Amino acid sequence: MTRAFTYRGSAAHIVFGAGKRAETGAWVETLGCSKALVLSTPHQAGAANALAAALGGLAVGVFAKAAMHTPVGITEEAMALVKATGADSVVSLGGGSTTGLGKVIAYRTDLPQFVIPTTYEGSEVTPILGQTEGGRKTTVRGDCILPEVVIYDPDLTTGLPLSMTITSGLNAMAHAAEALYAQDRNPVSCLMAAEGLSAFGEALPLLKADPADTGARSAALYGAWLCGTVLGTVGMALHHKICHTLGGSFDTPHAETHAIMLPHTVGFNAGAVPDQLQPLADLFGSTPGAGLFDFSAQIGAPRALRDLGLSEADLDRAADIATENPYWNPRPIDRASIRHLLQDAWEGTRPAV
Ligand code: NAD
Repeated sequence: MTRAFTYRGSAAHIVFGAGKRAETGAWVETLGCSKALVLSTPHQAGAANALAAALGGLAVGVFAKAAMHTPVGITEEAMALVKATGADSVVSLGGGSTTGLGKVIAYRTDLPQFVIPTTYEGSEVTPILGQTEGGRKTTVRGDCILPEVVIYDPDLTTGLPLSMTITSGLNAMAHAAEALYAQDRNPVSCLMAAEGLSAFGEALPLLKADPADTGARSAALYGAWLCGTVLGTVGMALHHKICHTLGGSFDTPHAETHAIMLPHTVGFNAGAVPDQLQPLADLFGSTPGAGLFDFSAQIGAPRALRDLGLSEADLDRAADIATENPYWNPRPIDRASIRHLLQDAWEGTRPAV
């Protein structure tokens, strides 16, 4: 029997396909804009300058200082340029750091955002903004944070280094894994989550063998859209709580932390929600935590928190923080079991289920 649900579709325009970045200018004009500020990280300044050149008179400048976790100091600098140039929109070219900068500008000004994602983390299709000030991360949600237009052009992802391809892909898969058992899931979010997991299940081994495989790049970016969309649609649980704890309080790198934790958190919940996790079992075997751990090994993903510089002594405090204000989770959480789970993830032990 179909359970009761509430469904709300996203208002964003999604444009997908190789070469579609060439349509950026047309989309800027379609939304009535003519003065776009192009954003990127310093690393992708070259691509941002090329995009600005292609936009011609529709671009008023490039701000290539986006940084991880949207630090307020960088936002202030970008806002000064928005003011000085009279920008009426932002074009964010890059991963979650650049998307985050575009989102915070939109949060402050309600300017339309055009996002061209080049990693798989999914922020471009969520109404969520995380930002940091003085080492503290805060998160806000709002309709004005959701980008208006997202242009997925797989050509721009062929240069994503293999290690980031793998960890960013597993980061996206974690959104979908938790969407499968979310309390507020709906039939569409479950279909999207299963399809996103399947896309990455197929694409990541192919990309491990050949990072320039254009078909696999396209499949992975398609998966990123699906996994990001469910992240923005339904609530996340234990996995995301632990990753936010480790990233926020111990500064572990974002995508790698998700990649390492995923088999362990799936294994932890597998017994509580076998029906909901069936799509993962279909892809990775009847013990999906162990199956994901083996998949991670196959694609060369990092598998132990100790390799991220986290000390064993940090695990007690991490368990305290992760269980202080826990998110809803399908299997009840207690400090001892989370401490145990963290130990396994720190050592890189294969989950039993
Ligand atoms: P990132 O954006 O910091 O990118 C990492 C580095 O890779 C940067 O130097 C970037 O320029 C470079 N890079 C990106 N794409 C490239 C490509 N195709 N080729 C070569 N280099 C490339 O990292 P990320 O993992 O994409 O994003 C992480 C951030 O996203 C975190 O701050 C996280 O909190 C945020 N995030 C937010 C949400 C949300 O919904 N708000 C969701 C997921 C992640």
